[in-house]
Amino acid sequence: MNVGREFQEIAHCGGQVIFNVTTNSEGRRLVQTTFQGSRPVPMALYAIYALPQGIPVSDLPMGGIGSPFPPPPVPGCVPVFIGSDSEGKFGFQCERCGQYWRARGGVTICPYCGVRGDRHNFLSKAQRLYVKLYCHRLEEAFAADDDGVHIIDMDAVADAAGKDVEKPPFYFAEQTQQKQFNCSACGEFNDILGRFAYCSVCGTRNNFSEFEDVIVPAIREELNQGGGPAGCLKDLGSAFDTFVGQYTEQLIQNRPMRSARRERILKMRFHDLASTRRELLGGFDIDICEGMTETAIASATRFFQRRHVYEHNGGEVDEMYLRDSGDTSVRLKQAIRETQSGVHEFANLTLRMARNLHRGFHDIYEPIKGPIDRHEVEKKRLAAFQRPTGQLDNPPVHTAKHQLRGS
Ligand SMILES: [Zn+2]
Ligand SMILES: [Zn+2]
Repeated sequence: MNVGREFQEIAHCGGQVIFNVTTNSEGRRLVQTTFQGSRPVPMALYAIYALPQGIPVSDLPMGGIGSPFPPPPVPGCVPVFIGSDSEGKFGFQCERCGQYWRARGGVTICPYCGVRGDRHNFLSKAQRLYVKLYCHRLEEAFAADDDGVHIIDMDAVADAAGKDVEKPPFYFAEQTQQKQFNCSACGEFNDILGRFAYCSVCGTRNNFSEFEDVIVPAIREELNQGGGPAGCLKDLGSAFDTFVGQYTEQLIQNRPMRSARRERILKMRFHDLASTRRELLGGFDIDICEGMTETAIASATRFFQRRHVYEHNGGEVDEMYLRDSGDTSVRLKQAIRETQSGVHEFANLTLRMARNLHRGFHDIYEPIKGPIDRHEVEKKRLAAFQRPTGQLDNPPVHTAKHQLRGS
């Protein structure tokens, strides 16, 4: 985790929103809106339709520069440009759980509570205020007695970030969170509070890739560097517990069920593999041991029982272990021992079960296909065509234009 970057304010990308009000030969007023920016920072832009009172109503897919916008879903809507922060990312906020995150664009789901929605549903509080002021300024421009140019100066907004100055009226800035990751399924950037979440673009949970690519390799590394096998076994067990706990929490939250089952699952500790398996099969039709042999399941079960002995009996065999494990190689009170290769095997087993749970979970909560398919195509394209490296010396000038016809 990049701790140094936690909760830092990221300035707006700047730029200018320009309303050019003209009157045509028939006396009709026209407003042409242009967003223009040329600061040497990454910059992205999207647009939404809002009611003139400043209420966001839909996303507004922009075509190429100068191409006309699709008609609004409700007559009278105005287009509103929303600029990114100076890293090319946008802040978002969930109306259901109130939590904030950053992403690059097309979000469809809250990374924390999993509620789905269109991007304009996830505007942050500060952005909503910006939309209101923007619509108000547009209305003023349109109602002005004379033709002319009206500007919302987002450069001033960008300049005011991180400074102890009075903020300009359209001020908003974004903030880094705690975990920045590119989704393993769709490749999109997410910056979230905490460590585990849904990808806000495609809805794939990041737990499995964290478990497979970060947590388990770190434990294996420790094991190979001479770390105590018993300690590594305990670490694996707790990481797996956390993993299962987070999926079941989401399963419970988003699904109606009897309160008794909800309670039981909430209180469940996952050291008893058989009961964990039963609960997930019965409740959600997910078999975490799918495709595993009876021997592998028995082996996994025993590892969890041994972990319990370390956690609750200081590593000395207790009655429960003797009874449940069927392990005849040890006596009551004897200290059990782990081997390096045994713990590696346990790591393999937890990975298989984690993969099964992840797959089963996403069979219920299907990720959004579009961004995943696009990512696959892009990966293939990149593999086939190695791009020469190098960067543009001058940042491009971004413009987008829209003509608003008034009466
Ligand atoms: Zn939420
Ligand atoms: Zn994704």
